[in-house]
Amino acid sequence: MIQSVFDEQDDERIQLSALEQFSYCPRQCALQRQDEIYGENIYTIKGTLAHERVDSLIAETCRGVRNVHAMPLFSRQFGLTGKADLVEFYDTTPYPVEYKIGKKRNWIHEAAQVCGQALCLEEMFQCDVPLGAVYYISSRCRREIRFTPELRNIVVAMIQEIRTLFAHDTIPNAANDARCPCCSVAESCLPEILSRKNRSVEYIAAIYANTVQVDDKT
Ligand code: SF4
Repeated sequence: MIQSVFDEQDDERIQLSALEQFSYCPRQCALQRQDEIYGENIYTIKGTLAHERVDSLIAETCRGVRNVHAMPLFSRQFGLTGKADLVEFYDTTPYPVEYKIGKKRNWIHEAAQVCGQALCLEEMFQCDVPLGAVYYISSRCRREIRFTPELRNIVVAMIQEIRTLFAHDTIPNAANDARCPCCSVAESCLPEILSRKNRSVEYIAAIYANTVQVDDKT
């Protein structure tokens, strides 16, 4: 039995997309949510264009399955809010589908986001939501996600960690690893500079060097 991690007194609701960001890199999540740094790179631009097609609230029935696009979601129990790109209803059982650019991959970051959507749908419709999917636009294929107790526990722990991160208003240290080249906030994060041990000395030396160059020209 998963307990509530949200105190109703605390009105900070967490966006479902923060689950993916936090799972990818807690620093990225903190920069985007706390400092409102929203970078763009080729991946985010492609993602925005792809989502434009699924970003209007539309309900339709296709081959006996009720499809609701851009469906608003919330959970009071977990203090979550956001939107599902698509929720398919098989009889009365919701099946959330998140659209992503790129080819099929086995990332937990996306699974965490869809699992968060499932937690919302279970509360909204008072039913079990055992399955969902990520749809990869480039390869036009689905990866089905099973919402196992293990995945649910990971996501609930993640929600608590995000809440703690926001409450303390802290920004985690820069990782400077394989995630950084693809990260949309890399330009603001400056992972290469900030991960160096003598970063402040280098930073001041760089400023001083620039000042001297400017002075030399005048
Ligand atoms: S650039 Fe790297 S360390 Fe900085 S937020 Fe992105 S993934 Fe995290």
